[in-house]
Amino acid sequence: MIKLNIALIAHDKKKDDIVKLSIAYQEILKNHTLYATGTTGERIIEATGLPIHRFKSGPLGGDQQIGAFISDNKMDMVIFIRDPLTSQPHEPDISALLRLSDVYEIPLATNLGTAEMLLRGLDAGFLNWREIAKKRERDLIDI
Ligand code: PGA
Repeated sequence: MIKLNIALIAHDKKKDDIVKLSIAYQEILKNHTLYATGTTGERIIEATGLPIHRFKSGPLGGDQQIGAFISDNKMDMVIFIRDPLTSQPHEPDISALLRLSDVYEIPLATNLGTAEMLLRGLDAGFLNWREIAKKRERDLIDI
């Protein structure tokens, strides 16, 4: 099984949802390298004990840190459970993260329905192409 890098983020009113998702898909998530914004990561670690690299909290720059990983082609999937009903002080950072995921064609889920599909697809090997894409980039850098 290929080990990929997965980012987990949830807005405050969606944190219970991402915790439930992480518990339900723990067996899949544990095979990969996990990253999260500060508070989301803390909640998931508390609930599951999964090892997670925690960035800063979203409003303090965590979304931008994940964006930087994406632009370095180091993130393979983003699960970002957004709250579409509450305005966020760091809206520009959120838009930037979503935009970069599209720029780099990174599979991105912004709600639980899609997140489940991505995690099941991940387990079925549908994202193995990411390893090829990253290898191609490494080869280009080596030239
Ligand atoms: P948090 O950040 O996990 O630190 O709460 C998420 C966000 O609100 O963007």
